[in-house]
Amino acid sequence: MTASGTRAGEGSALLLVDVQNDFCEGGALQVSGGADVARSLARYVRGYAFEYDLLAASRDWHVDPAGHFSEEPDFVDSWPAHCVAGTTGADFHPEVEEILSENPHQMFSKGMYSAAYSAFEAALPDGRGMAEVLVSGGIHSIDIAGLCTDYCVAATALDAVREGFRTRVLIDLSAGVHPDSTQAEIEKMKLAGVEIAFGQKPR
Ligand SMILES: [Zn+2]
Repeated sequence: MTASGTRAGEGSALLLVDVQNDFCEGGALQVSGGADVARSLARYVRGYAFEYDLLAASRDWHVDPAGHFSEEPDFVDSWPAHCVAGTTGADFHPEVEEILSENPHQMFSKGMYSAAYSAFEAALPDGRGMAEVLVSGGIHSIDIAGLCTDYCVAATALDAVREGFRTRVLIDLSAGVHPDSTQAEIEKMKLAGVEIAFGQKPR
């Protein structure tokens, strides 16, 4: 096993979930630790991207997502406006933008006209969805990290195991909205067969 626990050639992908300005400190829907996650992920990609066969990034990309936005959000099912397509808030955090510009990757967008937490609801500009791209790329195992652990990361990981991928969440390279729901989602992911792993610690 290599440091990241995967080996190139075995069909592995690294998926960066929604590491966008609006989810980082100062953003419309800031998550505590979001910018740290962006920095740590940039370091991780520089160190380990070569071990993966595919680098993918998802982004929340809202045009008019109906009830997903609210003036009086409950922060469970409705949220302040965030990641509006074409705005700075929807851009990747600069550190992540930089590593994406340095590394070949596939970028998936989701949530244009409805809420979409899972990156498996996201598509490339040509319309191909995440599962299709991964399967056609010979990918069998996925490492997932990003924002936010208790929503989009968890939803993506649960879909990944459902789709039959060996799935790990790099928990130290992810940050959650609420500590309680983060813990609850971690338990749910473990029960579903998601491995909770660490990207920054030697294993
Ligand atoms: Zn959203």
